[in-house]
Amino acid sequence: MATTGAKLAPPLMGQVFDGPSGYTGVAATPEWAQEVKRLARERNATILAHNYQLPEIQDVADHVGDSLALSRIAAEAPEDTIVFCGVHFMAETAKILSPEKTVLIPDQRAGCSLADSISANELRAWKAEHPNAVVVSYVNTTAEVKALTDICCTSSNAVDVVASIDPDREVLFLPDQFLGAHVKRVTGRANMEIWAGECHVHAGINGDELTEQARSHPDAELFVHPECGCATSALYLAGEGAFPADRVHILSTGGMIDAAKAAAERSSRSGGKDAATQVLVATEVGMLHQLRKAAPGIDFQAVNDRASCKYMKMITPAALLRCLVDGADEVHVDPETAALGRNSVQRMIAIGNPGGGE
Ligand code: SF4
Repeated sequence: MATTGAKLAPPLMGQVFDGPSGYTGVAATPEWAQEVKRLARERNATILAHNYQLPEIQDVADHVGDSLALSRIAAEAPEDTIVFCGVHFMAETAKILSPEKTVLIPDQRAGCSLADSISANELRAWKAEHPNAVVVSYVNTTAEVKALTDICCTSSNAVDVVASIDPDREVLFLPDQFLGAHVKRVTGRANMEIWAGECHVHAGINGDELTEQARSHPDAELFVHPECGCATSALYLAGEGAFPADRVHILSTGGMIDAAKAAAERSSRSGGKDAATQVLVATEVGMLHQLRKAAPGIDFQAVNDRASCKYMKMITPAALLRCLVDGADEVHVDPETAALGRNSVQRMIAIGNPGGGE
């Protein structure tokens, strides 16, 4: 394991180690949290953490949320440096929307298997085969792919985005095949080509597992976060009837937290008789931390506790400390790519309710 150049100020004199799964060597102690906050102030930085981050990263951040909400906070923040604790395409989106700010990600190797499932060259070749098609991309894409896109979408507004396109124009939908299949089924659109991409966490949430969970938890509700790349398979399967429809709630992150608080209140008023006391959550397991904080009386369980994104978990306490000490890794998007990408993101924001991104 190589050590990094990070020189840690007292009282944290530990070393940051650079290993294959990210930076290690620093524990999330109260002294660490204090030092992180001090360094952030010194840099005039605000720390944003995605919902799928490690609990200790969520707890030290200034704001926690989903990718689009965080990008909007980044654009409005008075600080001139944004530390984005999430995966690389999210930090790029923040940079696209705030080109004048310095955007740092604690470990630039934190990628996304869904975003990586189509490259800009693959998209160029696909567009060349369908020269008159309109390109619709889910937000989990690189800045270069966004720049080649006509309209971005989230899962919340994907149906509205596709429905807004002239029915005679062909649509190329990428990169998520589950979301694409869901949109095609709902819109009934025949002239729609779907890229065969997926997130590696998808594989953990399958139809048999969902059906089995419905059978073995007869009173539980199911929360599905539609803006989550890792839950689009659950969204698709819930639509297929793998879980009783009256117990399925398709909710944004904020909506999940509001629903959890409302259920906890109903449950406490009725002495536990009138609301779900168990909720199954079909999303990345990091989301459980915010839900359990919001409604401690409810038993939140993951549909699949292996649904954990290894890239999200690369943002370790050591990586965050190194980022603030060294001012690294900085996210760059060239201005022309950023301008084109911004257009496709802004078109997305204008259609329907885009929700918050993954
Ligand atoms: S959970 Fe999947 S879609 Fe989300 S960041 Fe990780 S790899 Fe990408």
